[in-house]
Amino acid sequence: MKNVQLYDKNFKLYLTHDQILKAVDEVAKKINSDYSTEDKPIFLGVLTGCFMFLGDLMKRIEVDCEICFIRLASYEGTSSTGKVKQMLGLTQSVRGRNVIVVEDIVDTGNTIMELDQILKDAGARSIRYASLLLKPNNYKGTLNVDYPALSIPNDFIVGYGLDYDQIGRNLKDIYVLDIEETERRKSINIE
Ligand code: 5GP
Ligand code: MG
Repeated sequence: MKNVQLYDKNFKLYLTHDQILKAVDEVAKKINSDYSTEDKPIFLGVLTGCFMFLGDLMKRIEVDCEICFIRLASYEGTSSTGKVKQMLGLTQSVRGRNVIVVEDIVDTGNTIMELDQILKDAGARSIRYASLLLKPNNYKGTLNVDYPALSIPNDFIVGYGLDYDQIGRNLKDIYVLDIEETERRKSINIE
């Protein structure tokens, strides 16, 4: 599909599933070379957006590892509220463990900065960050994103786990908000 409509907004194809999987391959290769079975890393998926990336990434990880989850939220509609809420705490202890955080997208960096504090307080031994997408021009954090799969401009995107008001997560490709088409449809009142 080249275009999709979600509620009042139009989106156009931005990254195909194949392009995404190539980038996931690269991240997996780096993690496989940086970690060993002795490290037994814990992949910490940040719900909900991470689920497709985490699924495809885990299929490519060759060292013994564990998976757990946390749920944080900062977005309402298409923009960040600036405040990060913890909706579901860590589903497993990370004390003394090597943690690899798996995010769908790092935008302002508020979420990973907050998460870093949560993980330090929880006694993690090491913390690294993997993110499917990174918006470098919006990033204001001080942490290094160790494993960014793809860098993108500051546009709003959906698909492959990412939502617009909770829908669109099931799309296998990634789409970007088409502002012109959304405005055009609004102006001629097409539902
Ligand atoms: P940050 O705290 O870095 O500003 O934002 C992180 C969270 O905001 C992401 O995990 C994601 O849930 C949401 N987010 C940021 N940019 C986008 C975007 O372009 N599309 C969608 N669907 N969510 C985004
Ligand atoms: Mg997220």
